[in-house]
Amino acid sequence: MTYVANSLIERAAHVAAVAARHADSVDREGRFPHEARRALADARLFGAMIPKEHGGEGAALSDIAEICCQLAQACASTGMIYAMHQIKASSLIEHGAGAPWHEDFMRRVATEQLLLGSATTEGGIGGDLRNSICAVVTEGERFTLEKNATVISYGADADAILVTARRALEAASSDQVMVVLRKQDYTLEKTSGWDTLGMRGTCSDGYLLKSAGATAQVLPQPFAEIAAQSMLAMAHLLWSSLWFGIASSAFGKAQAFVRAEARRAPGKTPPGALRLAEAGEKLQVMRSTILDGLRRYEEAKAGGDDLGSMSFVLAMNNVKTAASQTMIEVVNLCLMICGIAGYKNDTPFSLGRELRDALSAPIMINNDRILSNSATLLLAHRVEQRLAV
Ligand SMILES: Cc1cc2nc3c(=O)[nH]c(=O)nc-3n(C[C@H](O)[C@H](O)[C@H](O)COP(=O)(O)OP(=O)(O)OC[C@H]3O[C@@H](n4cnc5c(N)ncnc54)[C@H](O)[C@@H]3O)c2cc1C
Repeated sequence: MTYVANSLIERAAHVAAVAARHADSVDREGRFPHEARRALADARLFGAMIPKEHGGEGAALSDIAEICCQLAQACASTGMIYAMHQIKASSLIEHGAGAPWHEDFMRRVATEQLLLGSATTEGGIGGDLRNSICAVVTEGERFTLEKNATVISYGADADAILVTARRALEAASSDQVMVVLRKQDYTLEKTSGWDTLGMRGTCSDGYLLKSAGATAQVLPQPFAEIAAQSMLAMAHLLWSSLWFGIASSAFGKAQAFVRAEARRAPGKTPPGALRLAEAGEKLQVMRSTILDGLRRYEEAKAGGDDLGSMSFVLAMNNVKTAASQTMIEVVNLCLMICGIAGYKNDTPFSLGRELRDALSAPIMINNDRILSNSATLLLAHRVEQRLAV
């Protein structure tokens, strides 16, 4: 059944209801959320951001952020899978336009509702996505590429994977490109599993990826530009949006708990109410930070020249580190409010899944790595000290 007549947000609400029904089993069994993926495809949400002229709906980033948020309130793994897909779609949209192979592939993503995965992390490099060991080996119009990809979320279930690699065997580690590999272009040999604390449904196994394809599949722009002009900002904004969804889910449970306490003892403010106010304040700060980041990205994209500026990079770095930390603070406060009812796994106030999923955020590109990048930029950049814009 398809729901394309409805708005993006209405369709996302339907998918979120499906994801919520299966979230506990996805988490418990550490399995891919097949039901939510099917619902996303039925609702035609995978191609939402692709421009209309390439078969999509040309959705604004703010709509995609809201979808990530809604999905994550139901099942954070589903929210993360959708966010990662859209981050990869944005590389195609922003950097594949004008390249016939990529334009054709974009249309396929929209019409066939393909799911895109990502292989940037590499054995020996870790989360330093601006360096690669593996390289594209070209012969005429064909290439081969092998990567020891230590984490590929939903690698087994993706229809295509966007992979970073050095441009050629003789290229420096930072001279990278991004290659679009369709399922028929690669094999995956599993090298590690994903028995993790949280985000278990992302099934982010490690693989030895072996591929071959046409050189036309390599995105024309250097990966340095793809990362700077779209990928990092998109990742930080969409991840933060789904993290806001996790924090909101926890807050909703804590608020219900406090209200139930208030009903039990009318006339008395429940002890958890103070902490709820504190959590609400953090939630608001988180929301404002993300909304400001989304506005800033849209403005920078429209203006053209701010995307590579130090102040923009710092702003996006700050959204990521702040949102990932604040989310954990909110979930922790909610656990204090709900007490044992939050700690247990079988109550309406259970917070175990939110807490475990939340803990992935600061290590998903380690906050220390991002802060050290910001620290370097701050040696040269003056931080805005006025409120006037
Ligand atoms: C849920 C989830 C899904 C993921 N999905 C994918 C995916 O689909 N594809 C993919 O490619 N990757 C994926 N990743 C991997 C992720 O993006 C990071 O690459 C990975 O988490 C980093 O792993 P690491 O901690 O081993 O490495 P590192 O980032 O190398 O960190 C290791 C340690 O070194 C420290 N460190 C390293 N460099 C610096 C520095 N310059 N400054 C300060 N400290 C430093 C860090 O603080 C940390 O303690 C996923 C991760 C998670 C949690």
